[in-house]
Parts: sequence; structure tokens; C-alpha cells
Amino acid sequence: MPHMQQHSRKMRIDFLIVGQGLAGSLLAWELLGRGCKILIVDNGDENASQVAAGLINPVTGMRFVKSADVDYLLPAAKQCYRQLADFFRQDFYLERPMLRLFRSEAEYNNAQKRLLEPAYQAYLGECRKPGKPTGHFCAPFGFLEQKQTGYLLTRPLLNCLKDFFTARTCYRQAGFNVGDIQFQPVLRWQDIQPARIIFCEGYRCAQNPWFSWLPLQAAKGEILTLEHSSAIPDTLLNYGNWLIPLAKRQIRIGATFDPKHLDTQTTGQAKTTLLNALRPFCADLAEANCIRHQANIRPCTLDKQPFIGIHPSRKQLAVFNGFGAKGSLQIPWYSRRFADALLHNRPLPSDIQRFYATHFPD
Ligand SMILES: Cc1cc2nc3c(=O)[nH]c(=O)nc-3n(C[C@H](O)[C@H](O)[C@H](O)COP(=O)(O)OP(=O)(O)OC[C@H]3O[C@@H](n4cnc5c(N)ncnc54)[C@H](O)[C@@H]3O)c2cc1C
Repeated sequence: MPHMQQHSRKMRIDFLIVGQGLAGSLLAWELLGRGCKILIVDNGDENASQVAAGLINPVTGMRFVKSADVDYLLPAAKQCYRQLADFFRQDFYLERPMLRLFRSEAEYNNAQKRLLEPAYQAYLGECRKPGKPTGHFCAPFGFLEQKQTGYLLTRPLLNCLKDFFTARTCYRQAGFNVGDIQFQPVLRWQDIQPARIIFCEGYRCAQNPWFSWLPLQAAKGEILTLEHSSAIPDTLLNYGNWLIPLAKRQIRIGATFDPKHLDTQTTGQAKTTLLNALRPFCADLAEANCIRHQANIRPCTLDKQPFIGIHPSRKQLAVFNGFGAKGSLQIPWYSRRFADALLHNRPLPSDIQRFYATHFPD
């Protein structure tokens, strides 16, 4: 890792990164690893990455679809989280099997078909007929075992990275006001002279005048942590919503998906919805004591692809955002690709160029 020069009146760096969510943090980690000088600026507000469950689930939906990109995104994610675990000497990504509890006969039939497909072999395990109990949970329509699933402990990871960046004077807690950027004679923000500014602001991208033209479709999510006294297996559950067993007889359940109310207030309605969804599969857990209720906003996008690339007219400004509901899976691979593009001019996947003609106002 390169050594940052001490905070001085003028600090010349390669990249100023706005936002220390998972996107800004892992991109900064990647760029530091390649010898760049960076500074991350974050306002310290609770963000989507901290609230997120961090789940990685390669096969999703009623039809059990695995998108083709999982085959390269997942190995990159696992490698990145293993490298971070080695460096900080603690695990952040916990691989656990997932039981997919069917909600209809159609789901059972869809799963049966998928099991015959070679591309799905590595991701799917046993499929059980309706009626067979799963141990603690009811499975009136049967269930399927999924493999290569797990979850990222996002809050501990972001805390470790924040401490790491701080120790290298690569972190500053501040609200970044876009109006404070000077472009002439050189790019400048406060005492910093970066070659580029990269915005990793999550859903707040919508308020950034340089990138608000990108078609963000943000969606609020709420999530509950419950304390229980049942003996439950250490497997993830998916029953349309998901359940993660944590240590100390706690579970997390979530998440709602609300594109209409873009605030971070928790609601009684979402709590009821989440508990009611769990009840048919595990009535006792649905009565457990709620000890935490959180809400935040996912940076989803019109075409479900991230927003990565350079501003069409201000080449010193860049964006790394739009990871929607899949930040844990996608951000490690895209961080590498973006670093390749920034440092070696390699082609960039999910480049925002795809919106230049249709969305950028001349
Ligand atoms: C309830 C919920 C559940 C989720 N579950 C999962 C899941 O199971 N698996 C999964 O992969 N993903 C999940 N997600 C999605 C995941 O949170 C996102 O994909 C990911 O966290 C996005 O990271 P980000 O860094 O882009 O945004 P954020 O984490 O929101 O980070 C943006 C950062 O930028 C800072 N910032 C913005 N503007 C400024 C400014 N002007 N000045 C200073 N700082 C600024 C913010 O304070 C914040 O720290 C979930 C999201 C929610 C809300």
C-alpha cells in the first residue's frame, strides 16, 4: 500500500472518492492496492450498506433464475472478501446454505426443471416434495436447498476499512458539497487537488447536479432484527422474503421494497408486512421480540445495471453507483474493472455511455 502524504495545504492525489458505503470503500481498497493516492470523504450518516443484510443468492425469483454474470461476479466477491478477512484477521463473508421454501406448487415444479440443467448444478442441492418438514420450519409446498449462498457482515467490514483509511490519512468525515468543486486552474476541493473525483453516493446520486440525469430508480427497504428462544438451524431461509440466523439467538428478516417513499423512516406497516410473511413458515419466530428496525434506500437503476463511468462533458468527474439490491455480489468485480479502466484504459462494463444519447441533456 502506498503512503499518503501528510495533510498539508495542498494535497495532490489521484482520486477523491465521495461516499464510504460498500461501493466507495471497495473501490478505494482496490485503487490503494494498485498504488494510487486517494481520499474518501463521507458525511458519516447511516448508509444503505450498513443497513443491508449483505446476502448473496445466485439463484432468485419465482423461476429460479441465475443470471450469467454470477459465474464471474461470485468468484471475484469471494476472493475479495477472503483477502479482506486475511488482512483484518476476521471473517466478513459467511457462506451458509439457504433453504428456499416454496410458496406454491408452481414454484416446486419450476425448481424441478432447473435441477435438470447442468448450469445450475453447482448452485442447487436437494429438492423436497410438499409436506415433508424441514426441521423447525413449515414447508407446505416443499423446499429446495441452495448452495453458494451467504451473507456479508457489512457493518464490521465498513468499520475496519474506515479505521484502515483513517490510519493512512485517506479518510475525512465531511459533507461534500458539489458546489465547492473548483475546475480552474486545476480540479480542486478544499485543500485537495485530485486528478479525478469519483462519486459513490448511493441513492443521493439523484441530488448530484452532475449525475442526476442518470435513470436511478431508488427503492426503500426495511429490515427487522428479532430476539428469539427457539432452536433453529444455521441455514438461511428464503420464502419470498429472507431470514438470517445470527449469533446470540437473534435473526434478521427482510426486506420490504418500496420505490414510492424515499425516506429512511421505519414504518409500522413494513414491520407488520415482514412478520406476516414469516408467520406461515415459522409462527413462533413471527412472535419474537423485535430489538431493531432499520430502513434505508437501495440505489437501483432503470436497466438493473450499475452506473459506472466518466461524465460526458467533465472528464474529471466519474461515478461508481447503481448496485441496487446486489452490492455485496457486484461491487468487488466492478471495482476491479473500473480500476482497469481508470488506470489502463480497458473497456468498462456497464458504462454510463449507454445513457449519453438518451438521458444526458446537452
Ligand atoms: C434494507 C436493505 C437491505 C439490503 N439487503 C441487501 C442484501 O441482502 N444484499 C446486497 O447485496 N445488497 C443489499 N442491499 C443493497 C445494498 O445496500 C446496496 O447495494 C449497497 O449498499 C450500495 O452501496 P453504496 O456504497 O452504493 O451506497 P451507500 O451504502 O448508501 O453509501 C453511500 C455513501 O455516500 C455518502 N454520501 C452521499 N452523499 C454524500 C455527500 N454529499 N457528502 C458526503 N458523503 C456522502 C453516504 O452518507 C453513504 O455513506 C440492501 C439495501 C437495503 C436498504
